Amino acid sequence: MPLSANDPKRQTWLEVPNQSDFPIQNIPFGVFLTRDDIITIGTRIGDTAIDLGALHQLGYFDGIDLTDDIFLQDSLNDFIADGRKTWRLVRNRVSDIFLTDNPALRDHQEHRNKVLFSMDEIEMQLPVDVGDYTDFYASKEHATNVGSLFRDPENALLPNWLHIPIGYHGRSSSIIPSGTPVRRPVGQTKPGEDGKPGFGPSRLLDFELEMAFITTASNDLGKHIPIEEAEDYIFGLVLFNDWSARDIQAWEYVPLGPFLGKNFASTISPWIVTLDALESFRVEGPEQNPQPLPYLQHQGPKNFDIHLQAIIQPDDGQENVVAQSNFKYMYWSMAQQLAHHTVNGCNVRSGDMMGSGTISGPTKDSYGSMLELSWRGQNPLKLNDGSERKFINDYDTVILRGYCENDEVRIGFGDCSGKVLPARKL
Ligand code: MN
Repeated sequence: MPLSANDPKRQTWLEVPNQSDFPIQNIPFGVFLTRDDIITIGTRIGDTAIDLGALHQLGYFDGIDLTDDIFLQDSLNDFIADGRKTWRLVRNRVSDIFLTDNPALRDHQEHRNKVLFSMDEIEMQLPVDVGDYTDFYASKEHATNVGSLFRDPENALLPNWLHIPIGYHGRSSSIIPSGTPVRRPVGQTKPGEDGKPGFGPSRLLDFELEMAFITTASNDLGKHIPIEEAEDYIFGLVLFNDWSARDIQAWEYVPLGPFLGKNFASTISPWIVTLDALESFRVEGPEQNPQPLPYLQHQGPKNFDIHLQAIIQPDDGQENVVAQSNFKYMYWSMAQQLAHHTVNGCNVRSGDMMGSGTISGPTKDSYGSMLELSWRGQNPLKLNDGSERKFINDYDTVILRGYCENDEVRIGFGDCSGKVLPARKL
């Protein structure tokens, strides 16, 4: 099926600000509360939110096989479960409705009043009910940096890393949408000289600059997803801040890996940008040496050129870009991650979320966490108000942004932001 919605020549009758993340070529999917306190599935063009439930009730999706209530839901899980053909039909149709020359909705004021909202009239919700969340560790630069800091610079990359897309099962209950405050976690830390573990608010609170992909139901338990089919089961991507308490993590992670240092909050951007919308931005990933096992080998470009930024904004202060990275630096592609995840017969469901792991690039300004940027506090970052940061302070807001851009079109993700609040009283 052609991705007509991707045509860079398409223009819309809605107003789209210059450099918007959401031109008519994007058509992401999200869930929001309307001004009438109704929850609905929607999309966004420019700064206009579009109620897909209302559009469907008014007959704008006639001819597409959809249940009556598919968009009148508090999550995208059922729509995602309908599969890629339906996603494409709906995305193409939404694009058609808003084409400059299409008068059907454009000239129907009564319908427009039911369908269109300004962004300040709505409240974004979590787009999916995340059943299972997995976090990978797919950036070689990040794994090397963390291995150097936590263990041994001489053997930074463990022997399995170049053969396996390393991951762990995270926790989905604490995944929150952009804008939700994050309370500084409390926990145990490494013993000091008295041999007793510390306990209190984390002093090394960090962000992780990641992206996450959302799957549709793909394989039954016991079956695997062959790598050449893996992308068929990826609905889309969000920005993902995998907040991390490095002092809690350092004490707890041996032998089973991250636990309370990671599961107190993970922030996502609320609009899921479809894999289809990113089609023009495919690029080859880093060269893989040694060659992976056959079940992880694929042909053609499977990485995506998505510019990523991490920003710290002190309370009432200015934004400071502290990292500029790119999703293309991922050593293991999403297809490889999904093929690996299911090779043992593990089943994946609609609305599952797979984090990439921190995306660090090759240069010091492209590292995707404060742990790496400040080299565990040895080189504090100077902000433009003169203050310094080794890690994240109370009342700092961390914002992740991401976008793809070529000569014709820019596709972005909007903000993934969260403000840190002081720890609860002990
Ligand atoms: Mn992570």
